[in-house]
Parts: sequence; C-alpha cells; structure tokens
Amino acid sequence: MRIMIDGRYLPDSARVNRDLLITLRNIAKALKFGIRYDAQRELVLINTKDSSMPPLPSDNTSDERIEDENARLTGKVICLDPGHGGSDPGALGPTGTIEKDNTLAIAMLLKEKLEKSGATVVMTRDSDTEVASAEATDQEELSARVEVANQSEADLFISIHNDAFTSNTAAGTTTFHYGDKSSVKLANLIQQILAEKLGTKSRGARFASFYVLRYTDMTSILIEVAFISNTVEEMLLSSVDGRDNAAESICDGILKYFKV
Ligand SMILES: [Zn+2]
Repeated sequence: MRIMIDGRYLPDSARVNRDLLITLRNIAKALKFGIRYDAQRELVLINTKDSSMPPLPSDNTSDERIEDENARLTGKVICLDPGHGGSDPGALGPTGTIEKDNTLAIAMLLKEKLEKSGATVVMTRDSDTEVASAEATDQEELSARVEVANQSEADLFISIHNDAFTSNTAAGTTTFHYGDKSSVKLANLIQQILAEKLGTKSRGARFASFYVLRYTDMTSILIEVAFISNTVEEMLLSSVDGRDNAAESICDGILKYFKV
C-alpha cells in the first residue's frame, strides 16, 4: 500500500492493513484532511489543504512513479565479488556443498536485482573461475579482485562469502567493513536486513582488515552470509529460496543506503 500526501508519495510502502487504514482515516478526519483509498492501486491519498479531495491522479503519474522506482540506482556502479572460484573452492559444507558455488549464485541473483533498479554491475567473476589465474597466489588473486573494483570506479564493492568453523554449531550472519563512515553505514543496513530475512543470528556489522576491504578505493563490505559448516545454514546457502532471500536483502540494503 502506498501513501500519497498532497501529491507526494511517502518513501516507504506498507503492507495493506485495515487497522492502518482506519487509523489514517481517523487522523485525517480529526485534522480535517481529505482522504481517499484507491483499492485497485492500493493507494491512500491524503490532502492536507482540501478535505473534499481533488480527483485521483491519472495512471500516467503512477507509471512515472514506477519508472522512477526502477531507476533508483541509475548512475551507480556496483562491483560484486563472489568469493573464491575455480581452483579455490572456499569452505565445504558437511554434505559436500561448496562455498564458491553459493557465493556465485547469490551474486548473480543480486546482479539481476540491482540491474532492474538501474545500477551498472561489474563482476569480479561471473563463472566458476579465478579472477587472476589458477597459478596465482592468494594475495595475487585478491589483488586482481581489488583491481577490477578500482578500475571500474565503482561506488560500492560487495564481497560475498560463506562463514565456516570447526564446530558445526557456529551459526549466523556477519558483515565486515574497514571502519570508514560510509562502509559502516552500508554494513549496518545490509546486516540488519539480511539476518532478519534469513532468520539467522546476527553476529553484527564488524570491523575487519581484509585485503579486499583495505585496498579498494570505494565503500566496501564483505558479507559472510551464513555458516556453510552448520548443517541448517548449509541448506539455506545452497537452496534456491535461501540464495534469493540473501540477494534480495543485500539489494534492499543497497537501495536503503542510497535513499538518504
Ligand atoms: Zn570465503
């Protein structure tokens, strides 16, 4: 449900809710505001100047708004870095799932969602391969990822990983930043939305001195989506729904980051 006051949309949409409608009607009545609910478009129109309510805006306005919404990230360049790849599988789950597959799947879903919102997406890799070469050292491989990000002059760098621990009871979601203000803000936004949507324990947005965070020129975060070493979270990371929820949450966090 969208709410429009004096011809302007409120930035957030709410789930259609009868109680909210009644409350809005009561408030409008008390303040002598005009109010009208367009059920078909799930739109509440409030007019603070005229309690008799002018006609509904044309569908044209609504189309423009939808176009606007699809272009919220226009002009933004986002570099996505699916962790590991090729000769480096990353961590392995108890049933044999592989981190590099999960990170790539989530990143590809995220790419699609960000592009739908108008962003230009640069991938450090978009297939099961190394970014440098199979012979490269770990440092050379990470350096190649940083180089892709810096050369693309991206606004954001987002590295996606799965956490792992020797004990299979370790669980939860963590987002790392390198301490600069914008990265802390992005990490906090994504961490909150991600843990909530996945239903995982939030281990918080934390500082870390990872190579890819240290040497990238832009706002940078590294997300440990969940623990592949935990049997429950391994399933989440390898399932279609779990991956899509992760991508959706990261996308929502990015939209929120650029909103203010
Ligand atoms: Zn990793």
